[in-house]
Amino acid sequence: MENHTTRPHHVAVVGSGPSGFYAAAALLDAGTCGGLDVRVDMFDRLATPWGLVRLGVAPDHPKIKSVSAQYDKTARREEFRFFGHVHLGDPEELRSSGESGGVITRDELLERYDAIVYAVGSQTERRLGIPGEDLPGSIASVDFVGWYNGHPDHAALDPRLDSERAVVIGAGNVALDVARMLLLPEADLRATDTADHALQAFVASGVRETLICGRRSVREAAFTTTELRELDDIADLTVVVDPEQAPPGIADDDTLTKGARRNLELFSGWAQKGPDPDAKHRMEFRFLRSPVEIRGDGRVEEIVLGINRLETGEDGRTRAVDTGERETVTTGLVLRAVGYRGVALPGLPFDDDSGTVPHTEGRVDGHDREYVVGWIKRGPTGIIGTNKKDANETVRHLLADLAERAPIEQADDHHDAVEAWLRERCPDLVDQEGWEAIDAHERGRGEPHGRPRVKVVDRDHFIELSRPR
Ligand code: NAP
Repeated sequence: MENHTTRPHHVAVVGSGPSGFYAAAALLDAGTCGGLDVRVDMFDRLATPWGLVRLGVAPDHPKIKSVSAQYDKTARREEFRFFGHVHLGDPEELRSSGESGGVITRDELLERYDAIVYAVGSQTERRLGIPGEDLPGSIASVDFVGWYNGHPDHAALDPRLDSERAVVIGAGNVALDVARMLLLPEADLRATDTADHALQAFVASGVRETLICGRRSVREAAFTTTELRELDDIADLTVVVDPEQAPPGIADDDTLTKGARRNLELFSGWAQKGPDPDAKHRMEFRFLRSPVEIRGDGRVEEIVLGINRLETGEDGRTRAVDTGERETVTTGLVLRAVGYRGVALPGLPFDDDSGTVPHTEGRVDGHDREYVVGWIKRGPTGIIGTNKKDANETVRHLLADLAERAPIEQADDHHDAVEAWLRERCPDLVDQEGWEAIDAHERGRGEPHGRPRVKVVDRDHFIELSRPR
């Protein structure tokens, strides 16, 4: 390997969620361990870093959120800079969308950085494609989760929580998160960093029951055991499962993974126990059900579920097949939690089927100097830690390429010139110091109430807090 220069290599990381931070840490470690001098500038279109750790992970999972301490450690390194309120995209498009704030283009980044790592995640929802999907009261989990977590894009959602029953579509951890958040006891909620607007709405909510519908059987459900197990620790909650769907002995199968066996033991345990009639809240799981139609006069009033049977395809995968039988459930709130989807980035290739950027082990296909990590690379799967291995793979190739490739032209004051350019282009820019001021403010407001933080959600408030005093 030949190193062409002793000057620092400048890498832009676009997106400040887990995959972006794992990539940044691996890049900076290359300096400590591998003898390459790498500087990382991380960009986010929001004022705040941490992506899904701040805005996706359920507020009642503070342990999962505590991974942000690792990201803080990376952010405090001298060779790292954070630039929030910087939107990478098409300036025309941003202007016509009415969104405020500064925008920079991919070409401008390519002029200034030796490499770009895209860590932008999956920013939108998978669609069900059924009639009534867009009726008021039918909400994508990406919006609902963003709303209760104080994502500025979703703060105004204002969902009506006046229906006694909510129906949740999907049998994954996001479905479980939204169903659980709707049923948490007030005292548990008040100890979290749930955005204040959502906290008030949850406390006043009329929802007493969540019905979680999986299109395949209990065996194929995508929940993880830890998340299922914690349901037993929630006060006033009874978990309801039809004994026919999770009969005794369902877990006695040598072909099952350990995780799958534990899940089935939990489900069959709940099924045998039966519902607790005195519990204030009820979470029911119903499998082999697909949404067919959402109905209502001006808002959701009921959902029609198709009853499925299972079939194994030639690829060995179990598929849900419609039996033609129907079941109608009364509800005013349908939460669609059937997975997230990536959004195409200007100038980069995009695979519409998977919602990801085509790549080879993180190197964007046909694009030198551009790389992907996280969900935009592999699709919306895995837990937070999965992103570490994923980012390491990409960074290994990126570092090998940096060492091989002639660096971009740059003046001696390149590092400062980039910052000056950004400040001029993005007047609302929030830097690391600005974010630390926001962070301290939020934590300070939370502390007297025993909450990790009270989140700021308003753009102007972020700007005000981040300005040097
Ligand atoms: P997911 O795990 O992929 O689950 C999506 C669910 O939606 C599956 O049950 C899927 O069923 C179902 N589905 C897809 N299309 C459907 C349709 N048209 N009709 C009915 N059902 C449909 O996705 P996720 O829940 O959004 O989670 C994303 C990732 O984040 C996962 O890896 C998850 O584990 C992770 N996560 C982790 C945590 C945690 O660790 N606490 C919390 C939240 C999320 P099929 O299986 O039949 O396709």
